[in-house]
Amino acid sequence: MKIDIRSDSSLYIELNGWTYYIDDSNNEQIMEKFNNNAPFDLQCPHCDETVTVQHMNWTAIVCLHCKREFSIECIEYNTH
Ligand SMILES: [Zn+2]
Repeated sequence: MKIDIRSDSSLYIELNGWTYYIDDSNNEQIMEKFNNNAPFDLQCPHCDETVTVQHMNWTAIVCLHCKREFSIECIEYNTH
């Protein structure tokens, strides 16, 4: 297990092949989970294209369209 505390109110937890992201920095109680081995889609905050992330790497997600790096903290979550 790996716990990566990013701020007073956000952290990542890697556990059994899953990564959990918890963020309360905007008092929104965001909780997301990702399977580390399954590709998933994110929207690039720079060009709004959909980026398929093949492997979990929080520090460097590179957009194939605009070639810019972004981190998952940049993503705006929709509140459900
Ligand atoms: Zn982009």
